[in-house]
Amino acid sequence: MKKAARITITGAAGQISYSLIFRIASGEFLGKDQPIILQLLEITPGMNALSGVAMELSDCAFPLVKEIICTDNVDLAFQNSEYAFLVGARPRGPGMERKDLLQANAAIFSEQGKAINNSASKSIKVIVVGNPANTNALIALKNAPDIDPSQFTAMTRLDHNRAQSQVADKTGSPVSSVENIIIWGNHSATQYPDLHHTMIGEKSAFDMINIDWYKNELIPCVQQRGAEIIKARGASSAASAANAAINHMRDWALGTDNWVSMGVLSDGSYGVAKDIIYSFPCRCSNGRWDIIKDLALNEFSKEKMKDSERELLEEKEAIRELLDD
Ligand code: NDP
Repeated sequence: MKKAARITITGAAGQISYSLIFRIASGEFLGKDQPIILQLLEITPGMNALSGVAMELSDCAFPLVKEIICTDNVDLAFQNSEYAFLVGARPRGPGMERKDLLQANAAIFSEQGKAINNSASKSIKVIVVGNPANTNALIALKNAPDIDPSQFTAMTRLDHNRAQSQVADKTGSPVSSVENIIIWGNHSATQYPDLHHTMIGEKSAFDMINIDWYKNELIPCVQQRGAEIIKARGASSAASAANAAINHMRDWALGTDNWVSMGVLSDGSYGVAKDIIYSFPCRCSNGRWDIIKDLALNEFSKEKMKDSERELLEEKEAIRELLDD
């Protein structure tokens, strides 16, 4: 039997975690032969609800789950942790400006970055789901100077999956035949879903879909999908967000031949400003990601990518005093 892997999940009594934790526990993240220890973090008022989640987990009798730790202590939650799903975040309250939201979350993610630095395994892999995910990931990594910055990422995989599924539907193709989708930029309405490199089987996507549909329907659909789900369901997307978080972490940890979109620390590729967390097309193997380089970009793409970069630079400016550089 393998040694149990320690997995931290924050916001563990929330909606997304209610799907995420059970799928991880059943082996969908690291596989059916990998025992796990779940380290679940909540804020103090969420601890009662979290005890209910823990009871349900126990009632599932998952063979892979060796221990469940429920805590409101950040250091304990990250103790020796090898994988962290940072889901919990402060939602926008009434009268809250964007800057207030950024700052409230910055405080949470700087505390968690410090705890990761002090308590986690030095090889930890971190995905930030809680919004504003890209900037929250930047804050966490800046507060963890002893951890390689490449180990902090933000989730844009849900946007990627949404685009892939829309293209498959539109062209009547199996979803697995739609490859090389890219989401560039921020996980926000400025994100840019790029189909210019997308293949459907042997064909280029633009041989099967027209450019007007792409520009006027697909891009806004992916950008606004979250709001559409809230309108229909009366609650934000949760199961699909959890699914995307597992896809992201599984591909990163175990590798994949597919292109995947990940928010990672910009190294200046494609002229994107350095030192922001920006979503790029990546390949994952041997437990690391690499940005796919040297793709051709047309003017339309460059402009859309700049819009999202600008927004991320503004977000960074709003929390500059919390960045420990
Ligand atoms: P959810 O589980 O629905 O969402 C959690 C976070 O994920 C939010 O920031 C949400 O952003 C974000 N998110 C990212 N992508 C998506 C997506 N595609 N669809 C929906 N959400 C997405 O929130 P809940 O309020 O149900 O749960 C949050 C939990 O976190 C609460 O139990 C709270 O107590 C806890 N919490 C824990 C903290 C900690 O562990 N230190 C700190 C703060 C809160 P958005 O708001 O934009 O939808």
